[in-house]
Amino acid sequence: MPRRRRKGRRAARRGAANRGGRRRAPRRTGAAKRAKRKPRRPRLELLAAAAPRFALRSSVGLGAVNDPADVLATKQRLVELGFEWLVVDSTTHDETIRAIRLFQAIKSGHQRVAHPANDGRIDPGGDTYLWLQAANAPRWMPMPAGSALAGFRNVERSDTYDQHDWGTDWLAATVTAAGAAYRDAYLTRRPGAALLTINDASLPRGGETPDHAGHQTGLACDCRLPRTDGTAPGGTTFRHALFDREATRAMLQALRAQKLVARVFFNDPELIREGLCMPVSGHDDHIHFEIRPPARSGAEL
Ligand SMILES: [Zn+2]
Repeated sequence: MPRRRRKGRRAARRGAANRGGRRRAPRRTGAAKRAKRKPRRPRLELLAAAAPRFALRSSVGLGAVNDPADVLATKQRLVELGFEWLVVDSTTHDETIRAIRLFQAIKSGHQRVAHPANDGRIDPGGDTYLWLQAANAPRWMPMPAGSALAGFRNVERSDTYDQHDWGTDWLAATVTAAGAAYRDAYLTRRPGAALLTINDASLPRGGETPDHAGHQTGLACDCRLPRTDGTAPGGTTFRHALFDREATRAMLQALRAQKLVARVFFNDPELIREGLCMPVSGHDDHIHFEIRPPARSGAEL
């Protein structure tokens, strides 16, 4: 980081000199000729480009070295990724460990945080470390609100009863893409049909929720069932007189077309027979879908 700062100051000085109005072509002095032969700036840029934005010298977290500078860098990175309830300082608190474990559960595709692999510790060169460096590191964020134009709506955003509004940017992108796919494939033909209607994802800081067995890591979301009158008010099972199976089929197809969608649960025997979903107890009146992490990309520079 110091290297980048020095470069910044040098660039600022160059900028200041340029702004000084020296626009006439300078006389070719010996120094200018040498500068022309040996352009130093591109080499500096290459050096800067090789350094990941996030780097540690030693381990951080539970039972780790916890060098203050490394702890600070870790918390800065987690806050940058949306885990913004962390206090950015150089001390490892319980909340720091909890956020690291949540991050580990997300990058590993776990629906629950309590898994032995989520040990709350980041080792330089390890998988958690590489995911923290990655350009496609998971970001924690509120799920999108949706609109008629987007093909989906998020009723959880207007529901003040609970707060399962949060999840990963991977889930947000999946919901948005599924809404667009449902809109293009179905709503254009049936404009009166219900929108893809999502509700619970995860709590504001992830983790356990009394309302769900999973839903801890921003990788799962529920959808209400559509009715043939174009609404999706909740409380509709696949046995309901107004259950819109055709729209539900199109919603399931739109969800399954998304590359990160892993498992889709819903108990309608007909749609199960079609291979669109799997049965599980408690899912007569809603669709539950889960996503897997994408392949990790290179470091964010
Ligand atoms: Zn669910």
